[in-house]
Amino acid sequence: MTATLDRRSLLKSAALLGASAAFARPAAAQTSARVVVIGGGFAGATCARELKRGGVSVTLVEPNATYTACPFSNGVLAGLRPLSAQQFGYDALKADGITIGAQNATRVEPHAKRVTLADGATLDYDRLVLAPGIDLRFDVLPGYNEEAAQVMPHAWKAGAQTTLLRSQLETMEDGGTVVISAPANPFRCPPGPYERASLIAYYLKTQKPRAKLIILDAKDNFSKQTLFQNAWKALYPNLEWISLSSGGKVTEVDVKEKTLVTEFGKHKADVANVIPPQRAGLIAPLAGVADRSGWCPIDPVTFESKQQPEIHVIGDACIAGGMPKSAFSANAQAKVCAAAVLRLLRGEQAISPKLINTCYSLVAPDYGITIAGVYRPANGLLTDVEGAGGVSPLDAPASFRALEATYADAWFKTITSEVFG
Ligand code: FAD
Repeated sequence: MTATLDRRSLLKSAALLGASAAFARPAAAQTSARVVVIGGGFAGATCARELKRGGVSVTLVEPNATYTACPFSNGVLAGLRPLSAQQFGYDALKADGITIGAQNATRVEPHAKRVTLADGATLDYDRLVLAPGIDLRFDVLPGYNEEAAQVMPHAWKAGAQTTLLRSQLETMEDGGTVVISAPANPFRCPPGPYERASLIAYYLKTQKPRAKLIILDAKDNFSKQTLFQNAWKALYPNLEWISLSSGGKVTEVDVKEKTLVTEFGKHKADVANVIPPQRAGLIAPLAGVADRSGWCPIDPVTFESKQQPEIHVIGDACIAGGMPKSAFSANAQAKVCAAAVLRLLRGEQAISPKLINTCYSLVAPDYGITIAGVYRPANGLLTDVEGAGGVSPLDAPASFRALEATYADAWFKTITSEVFG
């Protein structure tokens, strides 16, 4: 089988079946154990459901009644779909018998095995799963803080920020300049800034053809780079990418002047989308599971923290080696973690997993590209399985790109109905 065929069959199964970790569903735990899951995103909601199916008592702590998904939110920016298409509730999880703690978790006491919620209530646990996603770092880019994000939105957590950036794009005059600043690795969704640039460029091309788009990048390389750049050359002549070596790294922002400052000069924007550096959600350092990088080192077989026993960390918050921070990864990690937790609660050993990730990106509504990978534990990290996965072919007819766009759509429908439906 060739690498392309491997990739193709991976993509097909990913689109049809949704995210899947390569392991069987665990047998019931037959235990009165209590598991608390913090965070009801792709990672936490998946894990809570898998644990519940395994027979343990599960409390999911999540302050928001509605989850707003980031995947496909770049389509909202481009006016291709409403924000409501990104929103999901927790009724199906409640119907599963999962208790929802509709609060922020504010404290974790690993020795007492206790979580405190914002209203002061406490939850005791036998095992804790942390899935808090990311926090945006408002302390590292001079001039950029939470207030600045109201003028120069990040839109890297979907919701009000997505709506704000969309309305700025809508009100910008034809002939205006949009500037996107992309952070250094690691960050949530490595291809995300480039999909965003593509779909905003699509919007500008169709609605404001004299407008320009500049990506200021703190990197010289990015995910699916050649595929994106070839497509930009063909479709979006008004899109310019400035790499780290060419002076793309933003070192400061001036909100009043709507200007992004780099080592090489200044870029005045009509619309500025600043995607700042990130770290694991605040509850992770509070629980003592984040290291100095701001992310959480884990055992790649069980997702148990390397810093606090009996606390597991999944999704964007964890350091997953070669696995990118994606919803697909979060869902796959959640399944592996739940299976491991159930085995550990029964006093059994966890089984070494294989995990899959596929990231779809839309360059235009009918132009999809993908990257897929398979990962397994090696030397304490999740490591790429060589020869598995790959990216879309560089030379492909429009019909192929259109097919990949339909795979992307099928994947989003499948994963959201699996996690929240
Ligand atoms: P989240 O989805 O952020 O969920 C974390 C949850 O934890 C939140 O609901 C939050 O309210 C809750 N929480 C945080 N702290 C606490 C606390 N103290 N107490 C209680 N609850 C708490 N991925 C893909 O696979 N494919 C894509 O096409 C894709 N596109 C993307 C496009 C964009 C523009 C962006 C920004 C991201 C994209 N992603 C994509 C990445 C994907 O959104 C994330 O990787 C995914 O959401 C991670 O899931 P998570 O559960 O770890 O975190």
